[in-house]
Amino acid sequence: MANRGRLFVISGPAGAGKTEIVKKLIERHPDVRLSVSCTTRAPRPGEVDGVNYHFVSEERFRQLVDEDAFYEWAHVHQNHYGTLKATVQKELGEGRDLILEIDVQGCLQVMAQDETVTGIFVCPPSRENLEQRLRHRGTETEESIRVRLNNVASEVAEAYKYHYVIIHQDWSDVPNALEIAAEEVYTIIAARRLERDMRRDFLDRLSASLKA
Ligand code: 5GP
Repeated sequence: MANRGRLFVISGPAGAGKTEIVKKLIERHPDVRLSVSCTTRAPRPGEVDGVNYHFVSEERFRQLVDEDAFYEWAHVHQNHYGTLKATVQKELGEGRDLILEIDVQGCLQVMAQDETVTGIFVCPPSRENLEQRLRHRGTETEESIRVRLNNVASEVAEAYKYHYVIIHQDWSDVPNALEIAAEEVYTIIAARRLERDMRRDFLDRLSASLKA
């Protein structure tokens, strides 16, 4: 029987570049899947329903909560976000490794409920860099930048609970910072595929054949 896929949760402060890192990772390594979450927030320019998120109303979101359809969900920056159980079950059941790009509360919740989940925290190289990235994104209002920066200190304090930490360098210091970070995430995924438990069936067969 094929091995089940593994679940990876990736998080970090807004503006640390986790969305770009995951996008680059999927582009370079299509064997890794990214879960598409549901959200009640409005689409940003260029975002496509079903690709970036499933954009749903508050009413529909509440209905999904009542139906116990979410693997995890959270209230982030005045909106609701959630990962569908169906997505997780399908991808892992079909043997694919799946990444959830979710907020810190969601990651902690998932890591606490399943110890086989790998937690990856993406950090900016400095506070100054983070603030600059948020402003350059151009999609945030001053108020939302202020709210987001206020949350960063408490989010970074939770980084100690993750298995791995990626430092996303500034591209002006390290021109291929994005590629480096994406490959670092892939290295984590690749290493987990080589773990003893993923090799158990093979080892059993090899041992049996050597004894025959
Ligand atoms: P944004 O609105 O900038 O796309 O996302 C805001 C925050 O919500 C980010 O930290 C993002 O990782 C998080 N997020 C996106 N989808 C989910 C989800 O399904 N569950 C949780 N818990 N957080 C999510």
